Formats: sequence, C-alpha cells, structure tokens
Amino acid sequence: MDLRVVSAAARDVDADWLIVGVPEGGEWPDELVALDDALQEQLSRLREAGDLTGKLAELLIVPDTPALKSRRLLLVGIGSPTELSVTRWDKATMTAVRQVSSKRDLRVAFCVPEQLGFLSRDRAVEVLATALIVGSQGQDLFKAEHSRFPFAAAQIVLPESGDVGSASAASERGRILGDAINLARELVNRPPHEIYPETFAARALQEAISCSLMCHVFDEHRLEAERFGSLLAVAKGSDRPARMVVLEHRGGGPNAPTLALVGKGVTFDSGGLSIKPTDGMLTMKCDMAGAATVLGAMTAIARLKLPVNVIGYCGLVENMLGGKAYKLGDILTARNGVTIEVHNTDAEGRLVINDVLSYAVDHGADRLIDLATLTGACVVALGEDVSGAFTNNQAWCDQLLAAAKTAGEDLWQLPMFDSYNELLKSDVADCKNVGGRWGGAITAAKFLEKFVGGKPWVHLDIAGPAFASSSKGHREGGATGCLVRTLVEVAEKGQS
Ligand SMILES: [Zn+2]
Repeated sequence: MDLRVVSAAARDVDADWLIVGVPEGGEWPDELVALDDALQEQLSRLREAGDLTGKLAELLIVPDTPALKSRRLLLVGIGSPTELSVTRWDKATMTAVRQVSSKRDLRVAFCVPEQLGFLSRDRAVEVLATALIVGSQGQDLFKAEHSRFPFAAAQIVLPESGDVGSASAASERGRILGDAINLARELVNRPPHEIYPETFAARALQEAISCSLMCHVFDEHRLEAERFGSLLAVAKGSDRPARMVVLEHRGGGPNAPTLALVGKGVTFDSGGLSIKPTDGMLTMKCDMAGAATVLGAMTAIARLKLPVNVIGYCGLVENMLGGKAYKLGDILTARNGVTIEVHNTDAEGRLVINDVLSYAVDHGADRLIDLATLTGACVVALGEDVSGAFTNNQAWCDQLLAAAKTAGEDLWQLPMFDSYNELLKSDVADCKNVGGRWGGAITAAKFLEKFVGGKPWVHLDIAGPAFASSSKGHREGGATGCLVRTLVEVAEKGQS
C-alpha cells in the first residue's frame, strides 16, 4: 500500500474516499467549518436533522460531493474531543477503514482532526496508519470473493499547518505495527493442515530474514538433547514433530538486559486423549496465537531498530491422539527437573511453555513475558476482550500494564496467592498439570511460575481476545493480533 502523509485542506485532496472525523458536541473545528462551507452547509443541515451527531464510530456517507476533489465523503464520529484516547481513536478509525475497504484498488484519504484531546498528533497518525493496514485486511484467505481489500493508496491528511516530517515517521511506525499485527493474524487464520510446527518455523525463518532477525530452529533431536521433556511429551501424539523457534534482536549492546518473549504455539489442539467436544475444537487452529504474536512483535521490534535486546521464543507442537500420545497418569520430567503428573492432556499449553521459559532463563533472560491461549477459565473470568496478567514481580507487571494502556489494549491482573499452590499438589510427583475446577486461570499461572527461576515474569492469558468469534464494526472476526502493540511498547520502554 502506498501510504503517505500530506498537509492540505480536505476539499483539495484527491481520493476515491475522503474520510473526516466529526466531534460530538461543541463548536466544530475550523477545518470542518471550511469543509462545510465548501459543501454549501450540507454538513450543518445533516447535523440539524440529527443524522450527524459525532458519536463515537457513527458513520455517515455523503455519496455526491461535486464541490470536493474526492469522489465520496465518509464522516466518522470521534466522540467528545476531551475524551479522545488511543482506544477510542482506534475504534473510530478502524470502523471507518472497514467501511470503505470492501472494493479493490481504492484510494483513500483520512483527515486527522485538529483537536485531539489527550492524543498527540503523532500518536493519532501512528494509530491511524495501523488502522489503514489492519482494517483493510480480511480473514477470507480462501474465498473466491473477498470482502476486504488493502487500499491501492492511502493519504493521511494533516491540517495545512501540520508538520509532515514527524508525522511521516509516526506513520511509518504505525505501518510497521500494522504489518506485524497482520502477520500474526494471518498465521492464526491459516488452517492447521497448513500451519504446523515445521511450517510455522519455516515461515518464521523467512520473516526473520526479511527483517534481519537472527533465527534458530530447534528440531525434535535438539529439543531432546536440551531436555525439553514435557514439551516433547505433548508432541508425541502427533505425526508432526515439535519445533522451537528462537528469534534474536540485539539492539541494546552486550551489557544491556535481555527481555524474553515466549509464545505458546500449539498449532492444533484436539485436547489429546482428554479430547475436546466438536464445538470447543472448531477454532483450535488459534492455539498458536501466542507464538504468532511473539513472531509479529519481533518483526516490528527489528524493523523499528529498537535499541534493546529481545529474544523471542515460539514453542511449537500439535496436540493429537496418535498411538504414542501422552496419557493421563503419565509422569513427565520437565527441563528444569520438576516432575509433573498428567491429570488432563488438554492442559498441554503449560507443558509446552514451561520448558521454553526454563530454557529462556538459562540463556540470559533478565525479564520474561509469556503469551498463551491458555485457559477457558480466563475467558470466564474476564470475558472475550480482555487478557489476564499474572506475575511474580509487581514492578515488572506494572510496566507491562502501563505499556498496554499506552498501546490502548485491555489487560487485567489476577492474583497469585501462595494458597493456590495447594491445588497443584500431586501424590506421586512434584505437581499436577491442572488444579481442578476453581481458579483455573490462576493455577495455570502458578504452575508456570515454577519454571521461571524467580526472574521477573508476567504471564498473559490471551484465550479470549486472540480470536474473535464474529466481526464487529471496528474489527474483523477471526484472529485479532492482540498485544503485538503492547509487546513492542514494553520492549521499547520497559528496559530503561
Ligand atoms: Zn488444550
């Protein structure tokens, strides 16, 4: 997509669609008054008729605009300017972009309002650029008729006094984030016969080369040699061998701390012998969303050339029911020596990332974040749109929560009291792999805590937000690419 920032009056911009934000309440800003003048007060009349209120994400199409250079006008409500936030601006821009991206080869121009409340101009440009990339990409990879098309060209239009230089840098950053989100979405949306540990690893290698990330792929023999006992046990039921992808960005020099990002990559989760019912299994191609998020974030961190050291790890297995599948009652020995009694083969994600976390700790991680579509219990607790956060180090978690807020993504912390450890006790091994019915999202986190060697760590349970069952005005159904932005933000800010 040809994406550029220009400074111009809205009436002079040439595009198939001109998109203009309309605030709710109060006087209209100068640029909107000027547009209204050009349209002979058509907008004022629409406002008086109650059709143009400026309510957040309200859309109004003006199909016939002979007084403008652009062929059509789309007005999108941005709500009250004093309440404008990253989240609200993202919602308004995504809704508008989705509205106008249903045809091939369109040129759009999106005017950035003068009054942006607490949002800086550059921040608004960045979020808009991401929306132009993400909102115009559908999930219909295999349909003859696509419902959404990337734009041929997009202009981000600043008022005539706007500083195009810094806005262009912000737009480029937004584009990089958008591409990273779309990469994560694409990998999650692809079906499990295409994406399995070997193909995910091959794609990761290809992406790494394209952005100068160092990339190593561990095959099943290397994983065996490195004692990934519990990860390999999960992989045993599948004909597809396990892989681990290691992506390394060394932007921070030899003495700077290293952040490790660990992603769960169960490329298909049948539940194993504790098999899932059809309804629960249908969307289980999404069980590698953590790994896809880590890969996406790493490509963005590399392209943005962040002056930090970050290593991304993707633990990749398929959880199936072949004759060698791991069984209930099996005792696994994890990489760090902890023995685990298997009470449920569908609680496999924690048996994958535990070994990856322990490897990351042994290989220089100073701080860790893991992402996993880990528990239905987290979705029960927080709903489908909010990720759960769990930590052994409040200061580190606070940095991550602050980064999520800056990125406009919703995270909520859940407790990690010692008493939850009781639920994981086993009669025959150091622990069980499930803690029973109550507090399931937390006992999963308590389980993982045993593998991080006391290093500052946050576990993010993205079982709800990673995959949307249906589309909404502001986002496509299917994979969402959630938390890519938060990871990039925390990598950038969290190490200073
Ligand atoms: Zn499972």
